[in-house]
Amino acid sequence: MGGLSAAIHARLKGWDVLVIEQSAQCGGKAAGIEIEGFHLDPGPSIIILPDIYREVFKAAGRNPDDYVRFIPLDILSRVYFAGHDPLNLPSNYDACLRLLKEIAPDDVAPFRQLIEKLDRSVGSLEKAVFERPILKASDFARPGLMKFGMQFNPFRNYRTLVDSWFSSPLLRAFFYGFPSYSGLSYNDPAPGAFLIPYYMLRDGVYFPEGGVRAIPRAFERLARELGVEFRMETRFKRFVGERGIELESGEVLEADHIICNVDKLTANGETSLEPSLSYFTLHYGLQHELPGLEHHTLLVPGKFADGFERLYANEFPDPPIVYLNATQALDPEAAPSGQTNLFAVVTVPSRGPTLDWPREREAYRSKVRGVMAQFDFEWRSDVEVFERVQDPDYFEAAHGNYRGSLYGPIPKQRAFGMFPLGNWDHAHPNRAYCGGSVQPGAGLPMVTLSGKFAVDALAKQRSA
Ligand SMILES: Cc1cc2nc3c(=O)[nH]c(=O)nc-3n(C[C@H](O)[C@H](O)[C@H](O)COP(=O)(O)OP(=O)(O)OC[C@H]3O[C@@H](n4cnc5c(N)ncnc54)[C@H](O)[C@@H]3O)c2cc1C
Repeated sequence: MGGLSAAIHARLKGWDVLVIEQSAQCGGKAAGIEIEGFHLDPGPSIIILPDIYREVFKAAGRNPDDYVRFIPLDILSRVYFAGHDPLNLPSNYDACLRLLKEIAPDDVAPFRQLIEKLDRSVGSLEKAVFERPILKASDFARPGLMKFGMQFNPFRNYRTLVDSWFSSPLLRAFFYGFPSYSGLSYNDPAPGAFLIPYYMLRDGVYFPEGGVRAIPRAFERLARELGVEFRMETRFKRFVGERGIELESGEVLEADHIICNVDKLTANGETSLEPSLSYFTLHYGLQHELPGLEHHTLLVPGKFADGFERLYANEFPDPPIVYLNATQALDPEAAPSGQTNLFAVVTVPSRGPTLDWPREREAYRSKVRGVMAQFDFEWRSDVEVFERVQDPDYFEAAHGNYRGSLYGPIPKQRAFGMFPLGNWDHAHPNRAYCGGSVQPGAGLPMVTLSGKFAVDALAKQRSA
């Protein structure tokens, strides 16, 4: 998605663009996979900020609705919290407050204060970090960042912030995970992690008609219409000099500029830095419906706080909070009628002293299935059409993610310990980077912006 966005923005500048893609289809982690009549979205499933994608079509003078349409979801997520009845978190803010009054009355006022604080600062923060990367200390002087820093102490660790706002285990369980969405820990200063739940509540959660894969397909269609050329099933091996890349075949290509969507550290052959977080996932095709599922479902086991402690200490979270995604209600292609396409996702460290993906994969799988069984998400083995497992080793091998991490290196190697790697360096001025390991960060909306950051950096360089 980062590369497709970059290709479109570069073409809109009038540049000739050639995309080199290793796979037979575009989209990377957002590209669909088909197994025995089930259509899987192997990575992203929570779709927020659709206007970021829509802007790309508008920038090309197109009507976004002609390419991809987004269906707003009424329920953000169904939450199974051990010992409680399942809750449906409504996407409407006022309905959410009404629900909170019932389940966590002491947290209603702080929750409202938090959202109102964010209302006051998010617009200017977006201007500060969604339009241009943070590359030097003076970039912190951007008014939006200063304003956000005054509202949320940027040096205080995120968990302390959450605990100071909320006392109910439910809200703590909900909020503790968000730093991981950008590869950070709740022990890091990560006030930006409040943005994701904020956007979910204020702007909604969506499902693209035709599945998540419809977004990269729409981008690819626009890119081709604009005249971007593609060489599929062609693998980048390394940079050569300032203007060249060598392909796996040995062929060398030269260009005025190179934009790299492969993880920045992987592409540069770096191996020594510690990687940040990743995912462990299980996909299933089941021959029957699985009652109790919503589009998004969250399973929070009783000792969830222990799971977070382990996760953020670089161990397999035990017990893990398990996120389930089932798309067939909104995507008829996802599973044959009356059957279930189920996706289970757990946030995990990519590497850690006690982690051994090939050897312990089966044990980790059992832990995840154990939590699912605790909430009655079980089935007989003869109705299981397939099981598909993805772990950090897979993301490294299949997608080139740096040592399996979806977010690049750990915070101390990032810009000021907070921001992902830059999209451009002085050392190689004709080269720029997009994608989840660079700014503004991971997740489909952010990597879409990263493609524009990369093109803008090169355009600035050209005009200098
Ligand atoms: C399990 C999981 C759940 C997620 N959930 C969400 C979510 O709910 N919401 C959300 O917004 N985000 C989510 N994400 C994150 C999101 O998927 C990523 O941030 C985003 O897809 C990354 O896009 P990218 O362009 O950086 O990289 P990729 O999608 O990895 O694309 C990189 C492209 O480069 C190609 N490539 C790699 N190496 C080479 C090479 N050597 N030569 C040629 N081509 C190469 C790949 O084939 C691919 O097409 C999730 C990710 C995972 C894995």
